Amino acid sequence: MRPWIGDEEAAAAAAAVASGWVAQGPRVAEFERAFAASIGVGHGVAVSSCTAALHLALLAAGIGHGDEVVVPSLSFIATANAARYVGARPVFADVDAVTLNLTPETVEPVLTARTRAVILVDQCGVPADLDAMRKLCDVRGIAIVEDAACAVGAEYRGRPVGASADVAAFSFHPRKLLTTGEGGMIVTPDGELAARLRRLREHGMDVSAVQRHASRQPVIERYLETGYNYRMTDIQAAVGLVQLGKLPALVARRRELAARYQRLLATIPGMRMIADPEYGQTNFQSFWLLLPEDAPVGRDELLRLLAAEGISARRGIMAAHSEPAYAHEGSWTLPVTERVTANSLILPLFHDLSLAEQDLIVDVMKDALVAAKPVIGDSR
Ligand SMILES: *Cc1c(COP(=O)(O)O)cnc(C)c1O
Repeated sequence: MRPWIGDEEAAAAAAAVASGWVAQGPRVAEFERAFAASIGVGHGVAVSSCTAALHLALLAAGIGHGDEVVVPSLSFIATANAARYVGARPVFADVDAVTLNLTPETVEPVLTARTRAVILVDQCGVPADLDAMRKLCDVRGIAIVEDAACAVGAEYRGRPVGASADVAAFSFHPRKLLTTGEGGMIVTPDGELAARLRRLREHGMDVSAVQRHASRQPVIERYLETGYNYRMTDIQAAVGLVQLGKLPALVARRRELAARYQRLLATIPGMRMIADPEYGQTNFQSFWLLLPEDAPVGRDELLRLLAAEGISARRGIMAAHSEPAYAHEGSWTLPVTERVTANSLILPLFHDLSLAEQDLIVDVMKDALVAAKPVIGDSR
């Protein structure tokens, strides 16, 4: 991944510095409004990362000690960690083999009387089926927090991902489509929830720094609850505003390059690749492939072959349940997760990837994976 970032972002960051206001201020407020408007949702709350966003979303949903939060193990570890931050127990569910997302079929078997929330991840920007998950969760009073870290610019049933969620969390880490260096955004249609999230990200304060400075009267703030410092800076927001303007072009280019990968790699037998689900469109945040069981080379060997050609591919998505931070908690039955994490990889995909670079990647993949053609004249 290489972010599509340059002079315009640099100029915007410089202007924020020159303004003398560098911490959370008017540019963060503007970025929140612009981001929420781009999704088509009432409120955006900018924070320091998507991890912070997930933490606050669970906190605001009232999740805490003794509660269980269902998460996919097949996700970046921040998804599971967020449950632990509020004192809850992450319960790992398996994922669908096509979308790599939680579904009612994978979540229902792990529900208990203590289940209070599900963190629904849009893995690699493939939208999860939120409506289906709602049917399972709403009647049981289980909250759904959408981990849309990867999914800015993806679409669910004709609307941007996040537009129909009660609460969704986005990431602006450079590994994702839009970047502010580090950063995150919570979107919600609920004004009261947004106000609480704003307070929680700023030490539990009842007035923001901007409000205090805008007042001609001295303002004595109060601290209504234990909050955090999860603020985004105005320098980051200035960069984010420029990045947001690039989103349509970013998504369009990724979809073109991804379609080209899909076409060129389709001749490798048995290979599965990231694709649009029937109910939406991915932004192809990561182009993953799942090797067939009988592939002539294993995943790690394939990564070595790619690296030898100067191609920086990566293993597929991690599985949190097998990391030391979680492995002591017991055993889990997650067959799809285990197969995908062991046999998948992620190919380079970024805005400035050239067709020649993509051709080289495809050639190395085919050389490694397509069984050698029979040699003419070979009498065996
Ligand atoms: C990247 C990612 C996160 C964490 O985002 P940060 O902004 O780096 O905190 C959380 N969940 C998923 C699924 C991610 O891919």
